[in-house]
Parts: sequence; C-alpha cells; structure tokens
Amino acid sequence: MHKEAFVMAVYSDFAGQVRGKGYPARELDERWEKGVGWTPTNVMINCFGAIPATPWGASGDLLLRPDRAGDCVIDFGDGSHVERFILGNVEELDGSPWACCPRSYLQAAIKELADDFGLHLRVAFEHEFTLVDLEARLGSAYGLEAIRQIDDLPEVILAAIDRAGLEPDTFLPEYSPGQFEVTVRPALALEAADRAAKLRQIVRAAARRKGWRASFTPIMKPGGVGNGVHIHFSLEDKNGKPLSYDPKGANGVSAAAAPFIAGILAQGRALCAVTAPSRISYDRLRPNAWSASVTNLGARDREALVRICPVSEKPGAKVEKSFNFEYRAADAAATPHLALGAILRAGLMGLRGKLALPKAATVIEIARMSDAEKKANGIEALPSSLGDALDQLEKAPAALMPEGLKMPYLMHKRGELQYTAEIERETLFSMYAQVY
Ligand code: GLU
Ligand code: MG
Repeated sequence: MHKEAFVMAVYSDFAGQVRGKGYPARELDERWEKGVGWTPTNVMINCFGAIPATPWGASGDLLLRPDRAGDCVIDFGDGSHVERFILGNVEELDGSPWACCPRSYLQAAIKELADDFGLHLRVAFEHEFTLVDLEARLGSAYGLEAIRQIDDLPEVILAAIDRAGLEPDTFLPEYSPGQFEVTVRPALALEAADRAAKLRQIVRAAARRKGWRASFTPIMKPGGVGNGVHIHFSLEDKNGKPLSYDPKGANGVSAAAAPFIAGILAQGRALCAVTAPSRISYDRLRPNAWSASVTNLGARDREALVRICPVSEKPGAKVEKSFNFEYRAADAAATPHLALGAILRAGLMGLRGKLALPKAATVIEIARMSDAEKKANGIEALPSSLGDALDQLEKAPAALMPEGLKMPYLMHKRGELQYTAEIERETLFSMYAQVY
C-alpha cells in the first residue's frame, strides 16, 4: 500500500481539544512559515463539537503556524502507525499573535515575568486518567495488581513519552479502580505546557493500541474520584538558579515567591474558570476529595488550592532545587497553555501589587476560623459551579486576561453551559468522559 508521510499542525483550544489541519510531511519546510489557514469561529467549537454562539460568524482568516518546539512523534516501534503532530500558534495574517491563541497568551506572560522581574517558571503537569473500559478489580488502589491488569501499558507509555522527548518521571495506579497517574519531569513553562498537551495524546494513543480508552475527564461519575491535573511550579533566574526557597521564610517560601503565590491565591476563584472549565469540574472541586475547595495555601495538605510540596527534612539536605508549589484546582478540560498562562498572570499581579502571602491553613483549621480571620487570610470558597467561576473571571481585571481573549472565552463556556443545561447528569458525565 502506498502511503504519504503526513503531519498535522495543531493547537490546544478553549475546549481543551487538539485541533488543526494536516499536510504531506515533505512540505514541512515551507509550512513552518506558511502554516495552514484557520478560522476565528473554530475556537468556539465546544468540547462536544457544537458552536452555540460565536462573535465572528463565518468571517475572518487566521494562520495556524506549527512551532518546531511543538513537534511530537508518537512511535510505539511495533510497526503500527506512527503519528506526528506539531503544536503551534494561531496568528493574524500579518504574523502578530491572535488575541485568542492560548499558546501566545502563555508566551506573553512568560515574557513579562522574565522582562519585568527576571524570573522564569519551571513547571511539571501531573496527570490522572481513567481507563474507562477496563474491568478494574476492586481494592487495587495504588496496588501492584492494578498494574498487572493493564499488562505492558506502563512500559508502552513510558517508552513513547521518552521517545517524544517528554522525560518520563513516574507512572502509578491511583486511588479509584481503573485510574492511573503519569508524570513527566519539570521543564520551562512553555515546554511544560506543550508536554502536557502531547502527553494526553500519547496516553490516548497507547491505550487505544491496547484496546482500551483513556479518559482524562475531570470526574467519572457524581460523587466519584476526580482525575486531577496538578500543576507543579517553582521560580528560578535566567541561569536556572532556584529562587522559591528561603529557610527563613514562613514554610520555606522565599521573598521572591511569596507575592507570586499570593497573587494566585487572590485570583483563585477567577482562575477556576480557566483551570477547571467544564460543567462537571465542580463535582471534583469539593471538600474531602483531595482536590481543592477554598483559596488556601497548604503546607502539608492535599486539599489546598496551592500546596507547598514537601522536601527532605534531613539535616544538611539540599532542598532549593526540589522546593516547589502545586496548584491543585486544575483538570484536563483545560488547555494547558491557558491554565498555566492564567496562573502565571495571577502570579504577576501578585508581584506587581507586592501582595503578602497569607498563612498556610488546612480546611479543618479554616472551619475553625472566624469570618474576620478568613478575610485577613484571603480565604474564600472556590466557585461551586462553572457558571459561578465564569462570573468571577468576568469581574477579574484585564491583567489576568485581556478583554480580546476573555469575552470570546466567556461566550464559549457559557455556550457550553447552555448546551448542556437540559442533559441528565449521568449522560453528561459519560459525554465528558468521551470527549476528554
Ligand atoms: N484524584 C485527586 C484529584 O482529583 C488527587 C489525588 C492525589 O493527591 O494524587 O485531584
Ligand atoms: Mg494523584
């Protein structure tokens, strides 16, 4: 059978879907510049494939231009089909960034952090997913038996991740039957977001080869266990010198990192609209679910919005390099570039406003706080629905998200709410499980 090597130029969009157009791989040289034609309304296609509303209608033309750094080859080395896609940016025809391009939004924030504060963010996305059609054995949480049940899938995934240059870190059975977690090593912010987008595709492709279907949906069923995307990050200078840790700071947080984290906490409720952007994301963000439910900083707490991750406490241990924070209110309905871009922008707002870092508090400690104490520590409940979260984002300053991006994004997400309003809950969960 004759075959022509084929490549897709793609981007991860408002719906957390990777979409684009393909061409023969032999045209790659010219396509780096020329890209492929794109249409503004494409970003309004929701995760279910519908366009409930669009500010642009049928008008407008854009360019989706692949970026060499976004190149991803999925090769299982078993003679099965080798996939190739390249993440890129959506641009105006004159080459300037399109206001609604998630990757450009992240890149602009990265540039501001470097230019105005000399800071760089090192990031790792931790993904949980569920094999939806695996007949998972009960009682195998974190168990070796859970791994045995999936045959060589961990090896296949780790090899594919490695070959695609994502630097595998861990693979583990998670708490819920059929649920697993995969992590890759930290990288600078843009690469980390690209890695997250690539990883979801690699895991899906690997599961498919084995006859299963991997879903990164935020939560499988009402009252169930969430599939979180935990975003780990730390600050460093341009030479890679870690800057987040100071043994004299409260909980080890440095003076450079404190306002950055404070900014994220202060914008936490609006951030949810971007980091937990599906209707069912709010079934995951509830107390006692090991996700997050209030805008708190946590020291030894897996229910904090931002958790200070543990480091070795052995005398003389060198902890600067491993000291990092974890944003826990994210899931894979979010495009990694938008989620990280928004977190970074919230951090920038904290740096500019020289915000003070609230004290770390667990959900149990918060329950005992007076209203005045909560207020003093910036503690507020996270939104209880996507609608609430979108209202918070709408009120947030342009410093978090410029209007040219915010308005179409709100329209897209409110359209998703409208589109799903009449759908019965069980059906809704299975629809989300299908699309993520
Ligand atoms: N599954 C939890 C979530 O939805 C996280 C569990 C963990 O801490 O690994 O975020
Ligand atoms: Mg986990």
